[in-house]
Amino acid sequence: MNAISQRELCFVLKAITYRERDQIVVLLTETRGKVHAIARNSIQSRRFGGCLNLFTASELELDSRSIKISEETDEKLVGVQSALLRQSFEEIPKNFERMAAASSMNELLLRTIPNHRNAPELFKLYSNCLITLNESESMQTILGVTNAFVLKLTQWLGVQPSVTRCLSCEKTLAEVMGERVYAQVARAGWLCGDCNPESRAISLSKNVIFDAYQAILNPIRKVTFGAAREDHLELLNYLEQHLLYYVAGLERKPISSFHYLKLEA
Ligand SMILES: [Zn+2]
Repeated sequence: MNAISQRELCFVLKAITYRERDQIVVLLTETRGKVHAIARNSIQSRRFGGCLNLFTASELELDSRSIKISEETDEKLVGVQSALLRQSFEEIPKNFERMAAASSMNELLLRTIPNHRNAPELFKLYSNCLITLNESESMQTILGVTNAFVLKLTQWLGVQPSVTRCLSCEKTLAEVMGERVYAQVARAGWLCGDCNPESRAISLSKNVIFDAYQAILNPIRKVTFGAAREDHLELLNYLEQHLLYYVAGLERKPISSFHYLKLEA
């Protein structure tokens, strides 16, 4: 074994074929965050097996040295020496909705988090979301997990919307009248029916705000989503606008994988 390599539990977020037999992969690693890597001779290779498939946790042997590929952006590429498959979430690719949800998580990680920044809580979150999605039967749960992932990601990015109280009168969800509240994208929160002055606000059910609240407070695998799938779809629409408004790296371009979740719902 190479003395200057280390083993690391990883997920592949994206893979592209390079020079016919190599692959360039974007990895979410347990201790180094998001890393770009090259796996030489990995196409149809027995040595790599299914280790570089999407939605698969593998232990990869990564070079500790990295090759700088751009002086301007400080982008680096590390070599993948060998791979050992740890867990494959096989039910995800078999189902269109699960696949759309898991792909949207990959897209968000690819587009929003910086390279080479240690993010063990995101690794754990992503891993728990895949475990939950792999077992999810209903569209309601699939959308619920996606929304929970987005909310926890906004927490990590430091742009979490406020879900507990009306932005204006500060009443809690339990105290406000009616069944719906009105999301305010630019103010990162919601107004109750009594305080909502405009029709452009996104109407959300109180049930789905309660789910969002639970999702922020608890680990994904402990959350039971009570709101209907239509409610979660409205929340997804709101969270997409929230992300585009608050996350500079997204450059206001829609999250393309969300499109497939909206199609099915
Ligand atoms: Zn109010």
